[in-house]
Amino acid sequence: MIRIIGAGLSGLACAIALNKNDIETELHEKSDRVGSKFPTSVHAMRGRINGGDTLELVSEKGIELRNTFPVKTVVRYTPSLKKTEERREEPAYYMLLRGEGGVEEELLEQAKKSHVVLSSKEDHGDVIATGPRSVLAVGLGCTFKGSNTEKAHVIYNQQLAPGGYICVLPHKEHTTVLLTCYRREFFDRLNELMEKAFHEIKPLNDLVNGLDFVNRFGGCISQPLNGEVIENPKLIGEAGGFIDPARGFGMHYALVSGALAAEAITKCESFRKLVDETFGNSLSQDSLRYSSIKRMTNDEYEALLMGRGKNS
Ligand SMILES: Cc1cc2nc3c(=O)[nH]c(=O)nc-3n(C[C@H](O)[C@H](O)[C@H](O)COP(=O)(O)OP(=O)(O)OC[C@H]3O[C@@H](n4cnc5c(N)ncnc54)[C@H](O)[C@@H]3O)c2cc1C
Repeated sequence: MIRIIGAGLSGLACAIALNKNDIETELHEKSDRVGSKFPTSVHAMRGRINGGDTLELVSEKGIELRNTFPVKTVVRYTPSLKKTEERREEPAYYMLLRGEGGVEEELLEQAKKSHVVLSSKEDHGDVIATGPRSVLAVGLGCTFKGSNTEKAHVIYNQQLAPGGYICVLPHKEHTTVLLTCYRREFFDRLNELMEKAFHEIKPLNDLVNGLDFVNRFGGCISQPLNGEVIENPKLIGEAGGFIDPARGFGMHYALVSGALAAEAITKCESFRKLVDETFGNSLSQDSLRYSSIKRMTNDEYEALLMGRGKNS
């Protein structure tokens, strides 16, 4: 019996992959239901991992994501609202729905062989999947019913989203506007910044024009672990520091690190070795990108996004 602590994306992915190999699992979740971390909202899962398609990789690991919305075009806005549009051949993101009817519920259905113990706050297990351990950034989201776009939109503005960005993420029937902030001194001003962003950024208003407001939600994004892979107990998802710190993307890492921990257990292999083979240098590249952009000014963003910056 393998005890997994935390039934978020990484814990569920690990349970599914273990179940496929007939290994019994017990999933402990401190909340009274699985998937309660977010209300209905749209989140962007990165489309590629180490050059391969994320959805294919996740599916090879035995985890099915059915309710995805692939997005190939990303529209970026500079602080002065100059626009660049990038269309890729392959999906840049797979948008996933979270909350009621969302991805955690979809995974729970696939993990039905696991013994799920709700309202159970535990500290010890074979696999620790308890989510963020420290706070690097915070995010505030607003979800709307309906959608006016099939593209992802990202707005950079150091005054309105300090150190972070504002993005508009569409799914089939919902749209989420997410504001992330990496500067601690602004953490308790997110509602005010969001109001200002809607007031001052016309394209943002246009993108949600006519849509009905559904909810507001928030949460924190944790520090990466700088390449450290904790083997015993296995730390997966954000508990193991699997996060792209520059953008707060953790879903692809959570799902895959969960499946890799299961593989390590099943095949008695080194978790670190599997992580290195699968993610290549993407974790360290993510950290490098974070170091280079975390202190950027609006002028530097302007230059970078208009193709004049060093890192463009
Ligand atoms: C506002 C916001 C927006 C985000 N948007 C995106 C996005 O668009 N794209 C993206 O890729 N990522 C996004 N992320 C990050 C992404 O949500 C996480 O990286 C991902 O959920 C991590 O999965 P996890 O399994 O590691 O942790 P979690 O999803 O946090 O799951 C951990 C689970 O463990 C449970 N738990 C915690 N402690 C215990 C305990 N002691 N005992 C039992 N259970 C416990 C929790 O209740 C929770 O259910 C966002 C994060 C936030 C906060």
